[in-house]
Amino acid sequence: MIHAPRGIKDRIPPEEDRFLALLSVAEEHLQKAGFKKVGLPIFELSALFTRSIGLETDIVEKEMYLFEDKGGERFALRPEGTASLLRLAIQHHLIEPARITRLSYQGPMFRHERPQAGRLRQFHQIGAEILGAITPQDNIDLLVVIDSISQKLNLPGTTLFINNMGCARCRPVFREALVEYLEAHQSGLCVTCQKRTATNPLRVLDCKVPDCQPIIEKAPSIIDFLCETSRIHHETVCSGLRNLSIPFTVNPRLVRGLDYYTETTFEFVSDALGSQSTWAAGGQYDGLIGQLEGPDVPGAGFAIGMERLSLLAEKAGTLPLPPDYSQDISIIPLGDLAVPLAQSLLRDLRSAGLSATGIFGATKIKQGFKQAERDGSRFLLIIGEDEIAKKELVVKDLLTSEQIPFPLFPLTSLIDHIRSVRDLKKVSPIS
Ligand code: ATP
Ligand code: MG
Repeated sequence: MIHAPRGIKDRIPPEEDRFLALLSVAEEHLQKAGFKKVGLPIFELSALFTRSIGLETDIVEKEMYLFEDKGGERFALRPEGTASLLRLAIQHHLIEPARITRLSYQGPMFRHERPQAGRLRQFHQIGAEILGAITPQDNIDLLVVIDSISQKLNLPGTTLFINNMGCARCRPVFREALVEYLEAHQSGLCVTCQKRTATNPLRVLDCKVPDCQPIIEKAPSIIDFLCETSRIHHETVCSGLRNLSIPFTVNPRLVRGLDYYTETTFEFVSDALGSQSTWAAGGQYDGLIGQLEGPDVPGAGFAIGMERLSLLAEKAGTLPLPPDYSQDISIIPLGDLAVPLAQSLLRDLRSAGLSATGIFGATKIKQGFKQAERDGSRFLLIIGEDEIAKKELVVKDLLTSEQIPFPLFPLTSLIDHIRSVRDLKKVSPIS
């Protein structure tokens, strides 16, 4: 038997309905905040990600699903949405420097991670980006949107961590101080951090290796190195959050797993999630749009990990309920003549707005009955030669055991009857 690839989470009924309903909750919040949806491709030229996410990141170094197509071009399954959304926005001239463009996306992302609880190789994100003449207030607005989703779903144990990564002016000064510190502590760092001290020292702050933590904790803090502009940016975001009574904790070691962030970065973490506790994350990126050959303007955005959001909503008891899968009517045709009639009845009943299922393979009526029960059907219609000859349909109400005759033509009296009882309690499907 062929299993799903490792690190994949199948969603079986009614999980998928609940998942999509949860996604709609998030989508609604983004729509209310003015974000317009875009449809991103599942794969892109791999250069898009290597250029934007950064060569010395976990994603680019080891997590991308890379492939070459028959034309010899190098592609990657998208590991995240921001780079792809920016590529789309630049290509279609959606970014206007003096204006604000708000775009959102949702869909599966792919990373070759070590599978563990909360870490999948295919996971679903919904994300939003504000592009153009953005201000610190736009960062606050992103946080407000995520917070409103958190409030709506009553997510347990959530903390918002924020940081400021500095800008093109002050980041290099911090970087220099950090390198000096890390060089003095090389022997205590893991091999990757030793390498990254030279290639991408800020990444060291994002290292999860336990042995590195005491050194990382005592490293210089970016907040102490912020220039006047970045400091004001940071303070504006903090005071904006205070005004809105959104609690937060400043974490100067929050650098995120992608290289393009500048100024504000943030993570929403929940202690109800175990070790993979971040359920939403994002920040500002000043140089990325220009780097991808778009206008030289900043942007800011976030992504929510839907599987983690779903776990939290489930814990909170706010995961949307599955829809009613029960059927209004099941039809069992007996004999060759009855089959085409059953098929056209199904079509007519469905177009009248009812739910109807055909049970075609039943060799015994009892077996058909069982299937109808399993499908949660309220009514059962058995069509045999007699019924065809008399042009009469005898429908059994499975709740009351009543047998009710209806004319085959017109079908309206049967439809009206089902409609009149459909809002009453249905027989629940057997799962
Ligand atoms: P980490 O440092 O935990 O690896 P990251 O920096 O790679 O995180 P982002 O790329 O910012 O994470 O992803 C945003 C959100 O998407 C995460 O907070 C999480 O909710 C979700 N996410 C990321 N990777 C995975 C994964 N492998 N499985 C499930 N969800 C994920
Ligand atoms: Mg990661």
